[in-house]
Amino acid sequence: MITFDSMNLDPALIAAIKEEAYDKPTPIQEKAIPIIERGKDLIGQAQTGSGKTAAFAIPILNRLCKIAPEPDSYNKVKAIVLAPTRELALQIGESFHNYGRYTSVGTGVIFGGVTPKRHMKVLKREPRVIVATPGRLLDFIQQDVIELSDVELLVLDEADRMLELGMLEDVKAIIRQLPKQRQNLLFSATMSGPVKELAKSICKDPETIVVKGEKKNLPKITQYVYFVEETHKAERLIDFLKFETYESVLVFVRTKGKADRLAKTINISNIRTRALHGDLNQSERVKVLTMFKNKEISVLIATDVASRGIDIDRLSHVINFNVPNVAETYVHRIGRTGRAGEAGISISYCSKVEEPFLKRIEALQGTKLTVKNKSQN
Ligand code: AMP
Repeated sequence: MITFDSMNLDPALIAAIKEEAYDKPTPIQEKAIPIIERGKDLIGQAQTGSGKTAAFAIPILNRLCKIAPEPDSYNKVKAIVLAPTRELALQIGESFHNYGRYTSVGTGVIFGGVTPKRHMKVLKREPRVIVATPGRLLDFIQQDVIELSDVELLVLDEADRMLELGMLEDVKAIIRQLPKQRQNLLFSATMSGPVKELAKSICKDPETIVVKGEKKNLPKITQYVYFVEETHKAERLIDFLKFETYESVLVFVRTKGKADRLAKTINISNIRTRALHGDLNQSERVKVLTMFKNKEISVLIATDVASRGIDIDRLSHVINFNVPNVAETYVHRIGRTGRAGEAGISISYCSKVEEPFLKRIEALQGTKLTVKNKSQN
């Protein structure tokens, strides 16, 4: 059995990993860490929930903590991690911070929607790892406030999502500013043509690993579907929230307006909930997420983009208030539960018009969802 102890990691990292109580590397960590350690470029196909953040964060920290900080001089950025959303960027930043807490390697997180002053504070601490959303990092590069001439490592996380969100040009513009000699790691849940093209344009002679989240993770997620008309969905959800047992529920809706309206309806029923969507400003988002993480509220209504990369311990249920028309979105959504070996439940409310979407989801996964009777939740 491969263990973290056998991976030639710095004792400071081993100590932090022990505190995280990780028994052994997940499959993607088992494969990716040795490849990254050898300095190879890597294309990894894996879902959020597979442990992929640690799969790149641990070997990056292992490399950087061997480089002694330069006294009195400017410690330049050595690694850039690009992520599609600020929530994911914050989460990756938190992982670097956790795994690296006994090292001298600092991590800074940069994203849109906060004042430049706050970011200046981040940069003043001279982080050697920067986790960023592409737009804001590019702003900083163009304003000449960030020095990237020492970057040795580039990570693109959730590359498929970045392309979906139209970030390709920003990503390319950032890459043009980086030293040519560097190690490139690209992770994506799906490998469509454009993602492959991007990977090919960035990575040199890469190793490729595929950790099929669908096959590895999904057996731990019990997937139910309810056939229920749109007008009855809210009622069905409230019944569930009132009468069923759950620890924390993430409810996905299609639009920001729907998230607000549904949160209001649920609150009226005396179940405390909040909506998380792109119209909230950064401090509101952080506040809502913190309330959910601290279990002050156990129900969160979210849109896909706002919830991207949310990582909550023991998220027991994901509810798809609508069935998404893109099957991969469904896979991303339910990946929020049943994380790293824990069991999870996903429930989808499927109206008549959404039935074709359900078929696509079943085709992608190669399995059928369990249909629940109307009398059960
Ligand atoms: P990620 O796929 O990076 O979003 O990670 C999903 C979750 O798995 C996070 O909550 C991590 O803390 C957790 N995790 C990462 N590596 C391991 C491991 N080796 N053992 C147990 N849990 C892990």
